[in-house]
Amino acid sequence: MSNKAMQGKNEQYYEAYLSHNFISRRGLLRSLFHSTPKPERDTTRLAHRPPFAAEESLFLAACTGCGDCVRACPYNLIQIQQQKAVLELDYMSCDLCGQCAMHCSQNALNIAFKKDTELRPHFANDCLVKKNQSCTVCQEKCPQQAISNNLTVNNELCNGCGECKISCFLSAIQLV
Ligand code: SF4
Ligand code: SF4
Ligand code: SF4
Repeated sequence: MSNKAMQGKNEQYYEAYLSHNFISRRGLLRSLFHSTPKPERDTTRLAHRPPFAAEESLFLAACTGCGDCVRACPYNLIQIQQQKAVLELDYMSCDLCGQCAMHCSQNALNIAFKKDTELRPHFANDCLVKKNQSCTVCQEKCPQQAISNNLTVNNELCNGCGECKISCFLSAIQLV
């Protein structure tokens, strides 16, 4: 299914799900889906979210900060900040196991959504390749073979797991 088709499916799903299950959120959902003209929704992430997250406005509406995803993650990669789930890939990568999504009763995370943290590596000037020296560590560690010799990242292959960042012994990779 294309991203666009999936997005349409997500919207229909949320409209039905939230308006039938959360009376207090009905107004919010109406404003998201039924206003005329339809408002532009800002899909920019306000923080790093776990994989399988709904788009940001829907995620913010659905996530209650219950912490079920925090307890479900085998690597302790999720924190609750300002009552919302936030992904922290500082010391460990995410293997996209889906446990967080499977334990989210609010469907802020849902296994049917994008299997992607939406984070992508950014290579700082400390990177040896940027200094015209030889290093292939992150390329070799990437489970998706998403990093090319000149550090171009294939956005379709990359799923934002963070393994490249963890593998860099110079800490030259940030996830953005
Ligand atoms: S389990 Fe779902 S609702 Fe609960 S904190 Fe995590 S993302 Fe939010
Ligand atoms: S997909 Fe798995 S490893 Fe990644 S944040 Fe969710 S529970 Fe943790
Ligand atoms: S480039 Fe590879 S290792 Fe880095 S986040 Fe993307 S998939 Fe993971």
